[in-house]
Amino acid sequence: MTDLFLEVALPVPMRQSYTYKLSVASLKDAPDIGARVLVQFTSRQLIGFVLSVAESCAYDAEKVKPVISVLSAEATFSPQHMAFLAQAANYYHHPIGEVLNIALPAVLRQIDKPKPEPVMVWHCQDVNPDVVETALKSAKKQKALFQAIAQKPGLTWAELRTLGYTKAQLNGLEEKQLILSKAQQISPFHWQQNCINEEAKHQLNTEQALAVSAINHAADSFQSFLLEGITGSGKTEVYLQAIEETLKRNQQVLVLVPEIGLTPQTLSRFEQRFNVPIAIHHSGLNDKERYEAWQMAKTGHAALLIGTRSALFSSFKSLGLIIVDEEHDNSFKQQDTFRYQARDLAVLRARGLNIPIVLGSATPALESIANAQLGKFTHLTLTKRAGNASVAKIDIIDASTHRLEQGLSKPVLDAIAATLNKQEQVMVFLNRRGYAPAINCQECFWLADCKRCNKPYTLHQHPARLICHHCGSQKRVPVQCPECGSTHIHPLGQGTEQLEELLNQKFEQASIVRIDRDSTRKKGSMQTLFNDIHQGKHHILVGTQMLAKGHHFANVTLVVVLDIDGALFSYDFRAGEHMAQLVTQVSGRAGRASKPGHVLIQSQYPQHPLLQDLVLNGYGHFARQALTDRKLAGLPPASFQALFRAEANNDTLPKQFLTALADTPIASCQVAGPMPAPAEKKAGKYRFHLLIQAKQRNTLHRALSSLLQVAQQHSLTSRVRWTLDVDPIDL
Ligand code: ADP
Ligand code: ZN
Ligand code: ZN
Repeated sequence: MTDLFLEVALPVPMRQSYTYKLSVASLKDAPDIGARVLVQFTSRQLIGFVLSVAESCAYDAEKVKPVISVLSAEATFSPQHMAFLAQAANYYHHPIGEVLNIALPAVLRQIDKPKPEPVMVWHCQDVNPDVVETALKSAKKQKALFQAIAQKPGLTWAELRTLGYTKAQLNGLEEKQLILSKAQQISPFHWQQNCINEEAKHQLNTEQALAVSAINHAADSFQSFLLEGITGSGKTEVYLQAIEETLKRNQQVLVLVPEIGLTPQTLSRFEQRFNVPIAIHHSGLNDKERYEAWQMAKTGHAALLIGTRSALFSSFKSLGLIIVDEEHDNSFKQQDTFRYQARDLAVLRARGLNIPIVLGSATPALESIANAQLGKFTHLTLTKRAGNASVAKIDIIDASTHRLEQGLSKPVLDAIAATLNKQEQVMVFLNRRGYAPAINCQECFWLADCKRCNKPYTLHQHPARLICHHCGSQKRVPVQCPECGSTHIHPLGQGTEQLEELLNQKFEQASIVRIDRDSTRKKGSMQTLFNDIHQGKHHILVGTQMLAKGHHFANVTLVVVLDIDGALFSYDFRAGEHMAQLVTQVSGRAGRASKPGHVLIQSQYPQHPLLQDLVLNGYGHFARQALTDRKLAGLPPASFQALFRAEANNDTLPKQFLTALADTPIASCQVAGPMPAPAEKKAGKYRFHLLIQAKQRNTLHRALSSLLQVAQQHSLTSRVRWTLDVDPIDL
């Protein structure tokens, strides 16, 4: 017997690995890197992953605890995958055990791992078409589902659900004995003639053809592409044709989409083009479904994995291409626990696998444009709309000279009326949900505010409630002022609910629908809403930025953007960039189906240089100007930042803790703080920030290593809740 010493990563918040001992008959019985092992940790048993194996150890071998058991002899993560996860943990200075935990489906994190059940897929029964016709005569939705399954047998429930069907419809068909489920055959997918629907393909225009050939040329080598193409320029067609070439080499493709970007339209474009198994991964899946998707990718059965940010950590048998769609989208940044930027990690993963990666957007992040300028990314551009849609015209309405009727100027109201008259749809965009952002007393000016956050309560009407948008706490709406007893309590400002009410009064004939986090909270409700909009059941769409993302409504020809002035004067240096992305993205939703679109931006500051530049010269010009400004100011991406956040029940402890870090000598970094967070108090906790900035990435990371040492050894380390955010996007 030989003793081996394993470095094991455990799901604990400590930034270190642990040594365990394993006796084996011979060296060839050593577990692989990435294997799962069961070990004793303090009083608990935990599942860990082998990071490395050695024949000796630096401590007293007698005192090293033995491994309880090796759970699976074959590696759970390939050594290459393991190296990627370790790099990710390293870059974000995050505990490796927690990173591994995110990469593995919950089912495999339990000690008594249930025997994986086979994935079920749906097929049509062999029934006479007349029988089907009669059985589904009065069931339109079931009929559509039946046809979807007939067209593409072998879809999983997770896929059908994402395509917009319900469990009730599926059960209905099964009860009528028109469909049946079978266990999915798990075998690596293999390209065949019938894997593609040639008819759906477009003849590429010159710019598209150049992009596709550049990407294909990079096969089996690492190269990052920035595909900058205006909305409707056919980026998706470029992805599809690059994917096709990858699949033909029997390699898999990972497509990352923003949080709410995985719509039935998105999925069906892939389904219509490729007759291959597709796995999907998003936050709406349950543990079992997530495990199924993971398994399909790992075994190579799924040719495509389409998913939101954490799909990035999946295992693949033979990944050949990564695509990040809408790469500027903030939902690629995870905002709690392991705060990673999926776009950056996707590039890291592509590099490790030696494969190409495509980042696509109409409004690339300034970071990506900077990388293109530095030559790190190959820049591909699509400057024309594909098909025959024209580019929307943008006008600024000066809100300081027009009398506003509850927030809307006359030119805006007139334009809405004219559009409705033409039987076309209107989108009105206001980035503030609720009825009003505050209520106050007209007599003594008392303001209803959340005592836990020191922020005004937002008034909601249906149901009537005061809700704190910072901590979520709720209160009844007072009828009397608690200070002076007056009953003159009024809403201040305007949110989407109030806007909806106002438009309902102004345009009585029109059907108005609101789309924001409140109206779409119910699962699947968003889907129904979008279907109704496509069918023209609603005429005016009112919403927050949710409305701006990825949805193409062919009959929307007027887009109104209200209240963007906040972004022009924000403390957040990224606010201008986000405003420009938003305006450009919403503009891209107008006038697609060969009807010309029109965008109206209502602002109190129509002459503001940021706004003028965006409207006159477009996002591309705006972004490059903004990038020059950032360089002059020494802000990211011209420098690198990390943010320590600390909070506690009082304001002295977090300040004291961060002061200890601020006082630590570190080389060549600028340190700002401790300063109160923008929302200084949230849910009863006092919050402080310490910002570290450096000109070089390496300088920053060296500094963070020393600061973390100090932080972890500080006497307050467990009395304040603190986190580190590398490359933060909300300061
Ligand atoms: P993007 O992803 O850049 O917003 P899409 O890929 O959705 O653009 O393309 C916009 C529309 O143009 C789609 O309806 C698509 O089918 C069509 N399209 C794309 N490429 C071509 C082409 N080469 N010729 C004709 N139509 C095209
Ligand atoms: Zn009062
Ligand atoms: Zn609150």
